[in-house]
Amino acid sequence: MIGENVKRILQELPPGVRLVGAAKTRTPEEILEAVDAGLEIIGENYVQEAEAAFAVVGHRVKWHLIGHLQRNKVKKAVPIFDMIETVDSMKLAREIDKICLKVDRSMPVLIEINSGEEEQKAGVFPARAASLIREIATLERVKVQGLMTMGPFTGDPEDARPYFQITRKLFQEIASLKIPGVEMRYLSMGMSNSYKVALEEGANLVRIGTRIFGERQYG
Ligand SMILES: *Cc1c(COP(=O)(O)O)cnc(C)c1O
Repeated sequence: MIGENVKRILQELPPGVRLVGAAKTRTPEEILEAVDAGLEIIGENYVQEAEAAFAVVGHRVKWHLIGHLQRNKVKKAVPIFDMIETVDSMKLAREIDKICLKVDRSMPVLIEINSGEEEQKAGVFPARAASLIREIATLERVKVQGLMTMGPFTGDPEDARPYFQITRKLFQEIASLKIPGVEMRYLSMGMSNSYKVALEEGANLVRIGTRIFGERQYG
């Protein structure tokens, strides 16, 4: 079933849109089933869970970190992930830069936008995004490649549309600033219930869990 889900979603997605399989709580075997069906990017929320899956699946696929990253986990995250989608502070970016320098690589990142401006949530508020990106662009090994947003959670996908619109507009504004070293290439928005709306609003990375792997038991 997992394999069929992946194939169906891949067929549905418009050209130029990439699928991230959101794999939190899934076993390495479930992830392998998705990979065998053609899934090319795995999204993990937790470094520890990613380590277990990475040990089995390895570099056959790309790994994106889609959950909040604590600074004390950066050292473990850098060897696994091909992209960190959730950078929202200079402190975190500086730590990623430091570890990348040590192991001589660079790290593509997306800036997480708190498009609902919810104090308790991760992500930078839209009004502060451009200045944060200018600051991060001064780091040698952290490469800003776009924006990611969750939006406030509600059951109705239409409720997410305004937050996707805010993020898309910001994406275009930041692209027009032509900040040296910054590429506005990826716009990561939309989950199982909202990715169709996100696609209409310009997403080119969609993070889908439930529609691939089924309902989660926990997490
Ligand atoms: C779990 C998760 C998803 C996918 O959620 P589903 O509703 O299962 O598709 C997408 N993005 C992030 C950041 C997540 O934590």
